Amino acid sequence: MDLAAAATHPGRTTPIADRTQLYLDGRWIAPHGTGVIAVEDPTTEQVIAHVPAGDTVDVDRAVAAAKAAFGPWSALAPAERAAHLDRLHTALSARAGDIATTVARELGTPMKIATKVQAGLPLTVLKSYVDMAGQPESTHTVGNSLIVGEPVGVVGAITPWNYPLHQIMAKVAGALAAGCTVVLKPADLTPLVAYLLFDAIDEAGLPPGVANLVTGPGSVVGSAIAAHPDVDLVSFTGSTAVGARISHLAADRIARVALELGGKSANVILADADLRRAVKTGVANAFLNSGQTCTAWTRMLVHRSRYDEALAIAAEAAAGQTLGDPFDEGTRLGPLASAAQRETVRGYIEQGLAAGARLIAGGLDAPVPDRGHFVAATVLADVDPDSVVAQEEIFGPVLVVIPFDSDDEAVAIANNSRYGLAGAVWSGDEDRALAVARRMRTGAVDVNGGAFNPLAPFGGFKQSGIGRELGRHGLAEFLETKAIQR
Ligand code: NDP
Repeated sequence: MDLAAAATHPGRTTPIADRTQLYLDGRWIAPHGTGVIAVEDPTTEQVIAHVPAGDTVDVDRAVAAAKAAFGPWSALAPAERAAHLDRLHTALSARAGDIATTVARELGTPMKIATKVQAGLPLTVLKSYVDMAGQPESTHTVGNSLIVGEPVGVVGAITPWNYPLHQIMAKVAGALAAGCTVVLKPADLTPLVAYLLFDAIDEAGLPPGVANLVTGPGSVVGSAIAAHPDVDLVSFTGSTAVGARISHLAADRIARVALELGGKSANVILADADLRRAVKTGVANAFLNSGQTCTAWTRMLVHRSRYDEALAIAAEAAAGQTLGDPFDEGTRLGPLASAAQRETVRGYIEQGLAAGARLIAGGLDAPVPDRGHFVAATVLADVDPDSVVAQEEIFGPVLVVIPFDSDDEAVAIANNSRYGLAGAVWSGDEDRALAVARRMRTGAVDVNGGAFNPLAPFGGFKQSGIGRELGRHGLAEFLETKAIQR
């Protein structure tokens, strides 16, 4: 790693300021909560800024503001709401460089990915909702009934740290476009990019109360949002365990929940696949963002006739995942988000090896930078499909490889999971690949490297969640359906 070059990158040398306020009712104001959250750079392990730890009084203030703003915001003409969101898109686009460097600092995503995905994708998603806000879902009739969609009300958005602005945008842009108002609680590990969004919201002049920001611990601020009587829909992305807790809190008052949870997605490589492309794409996918991606294809299923060949390609591709500083151009793999996450991931590698997996690349003894929460790109072969490392979401750079003998067996292994978020199939025969894709119990499948589509519905089967985000399906999550008989 070229630390000297990295250290002089403007993204690292520009100081990040402490933030001391919350955004409530259209203004930056002092929090009621007195605590602070220290934000760490996981590459240098240094604290780079502090943000306030709000409390339940701050949540009450935010929800009251969102509730008061809901009537006027939902009553705006679609073109007016679209104009507000368009101004937000302009203000946020001007901050694209800062967004990328901020996420590279607070999360450790390498700059190339930070620029393209962490900054670029949320802007694309916001633009798609500018367009949709201006062209509302048309009403339709069923017999003598007129069927209309109406905004659900106040949305509580609770988001994770892995794609911090994208996860926020999928909720906030969809909710605002539908005519809802929002209270956002971003992840404690990565709150700084949320502040950039609210700087843009302030500059764009969104009406007071339409979007509110309360930073603070999930156990306090997140729980208070989920339990609040005036929050009509809780939209959460994160772990399945917290998703279940939020569902319990919301169930007491029959509030709606939308959950985007974990994944353990299968990349099925049939015998007639373009093996090199399938394996190399699969390895890159599994290690994107240091493996901290809910849709990551972390189980590679390979036909036994191509298994050894696939392992050799996977080992070579994993070795190309150069660890280093996110600001160093050669870096492919940044650190994990926190020391705790690194220890969790190391524990899984240990368990996998103890259970009989064969180490093909990386591992606990592979060299890593002596500072930062790094784990080398690790490939485990001969993994038992029922073992812990094949079943649990590791959320780090660990890929397991499993052989199969028939299409039926591949489908059975792919579906042998409590999750069902994403997946892939590779075959020289597209119809055969599509047939396998249709049998996979999962919310999305890419056939032969089909590209991510930000307008397609995104969400999970089984314990990967409830509901869909992005595009028209995502907008529909924020609407109630009304039937008017004439
Ligand atoms: P969590 O599910 O704990 O955190 C996600 C969000 O929920 C954060 O904003 C968090 O706040 C908040 N939160 C935490 N506890 C509560 C609560 N009791 N009530 C309401 N909100 C709460 O994820 P972690 O950060 O702990 O990550 C743990 C694991 O979850 C990862 O290893 C990974 O397996 C999975 N995960 C999956 C993601 C996905 O995209 N599917 C994203 C992130 C994690 P705070 O930041 O203050 O804790």
